[in-house]
Amino acid sequence: MSATVDATRVAFIGLGAMGQPMAQHLISAGFEVIGFDLSKDARVKLTDAGGRAAETISEAMVGASFVITMLPNGKIVRDALLGGNACGGLKQNAVVIDMSSSAPSDTRDLGLELASRGLRLVDAPVSGGVKRAVSGTLTIMAGGEDADIEEAEPLLKAVGQQVFRTGPVGSGHAMKAINNFVSGAGVLAAIEGVLLGRAFGLEPETIVDILNSSSGKNNATEVKMKQFILSETFGSGFAIGLMAKDIRIAADLAKTLGLRLDALASTADAWDAAQKALGPSEDHTRIIRYVEDHN
Ligand code: NAD
Repeated sequence: MSATVDATRVAFIGLGAMGQPMAQHLISAGFEVIGFDLSKDARVKLTDAGGRAAETISEAMVGASFVITMLPNGKIVRDALLGGNACGGLKQNAVVIDMSSSAPSDTRDLGLELASRGLRLVDAPVSGGVKRAVSGTLTIMAGGEDADIEEAEPLLKAVGQQVFRTGPVGSGHAMKAINNFVSGAGVLAAIEGVLLGRAFGLEPETIVDILNSSSGKNNATEVKMKQFILSETFGSGFAIGLMAKDIRIAADLAKTLGLRLDALASTADAWDAAQKALGPSEDHTRIIRYVEDHN
């Protein structure tokens, strides 16, 4: 059974589009948040919101009972925690919560490595995008020991609305990759449907309205097509490189498990090609440009 630890000091690593509002919710909930990000602007924003900014990752972690990582991928999470033994200053038995969308196999390895240093790992990736990070209503999928998730729950509840337990360490990350495969396939289907209809002479807005009132409705038709794609604002806040990474994680998982999933393979290839053509930091909703350029 896990020993309990002081719950107040949280090191928050990665204060980007998602991490910044999440850290601010923790501050509002009464946690003492010490954050670090490579970007100075992000560190200043945290200070303005009532948190403390550290100059290095190691400094952020000194004496903390919890660490939350909200970084681009699992390799960066691993380097952040283990590089220069940054996690060495954490309280004994501290809980590391990786809320990034990382690859489950990397997460399992990291869990073992952290355990050998007397630390615990919970993977707790999120869904809901920047909008729901700002409103504190993210969906969270948490993998790890029940007792560890329970200890992490007050933090998770400060940033999210629903916390699902998915199983052992790595299972939250597997679930997140599955979600983003289904989501990314839905974005492509909605865009291709609209382009097909437009070529036939249908009005794009009408197509979306009818999909939303019919069985073709999905998250992209409901919250992305008009809002970011047809309006050409492309401001969802989720980078195309991150979407491509997540769907590739799902495709790699299928390969590892010996499954041939054709739609997953072609969706991963399409997002990879699009992020190469457009650049990884473009908003993922811009994938319509990639599809249009091929026609
Ligand atoms: P982002 O690029 O806006 O933020 C990442 C932040 O990490 C940046 O501020 C960057 O400076 C910082 N960073 C990178 N390397 C670092 C390091 N070594 N040390 C400290 N800071 C470092 O990305 P985001 O959109 O906030 O996404 C973060 C994670 O959440 C990703 O894994 C992403 O897949 C996932 N995610 C994003 C969304 C979304 O809608 N944006 C939704 C769900 C999940």
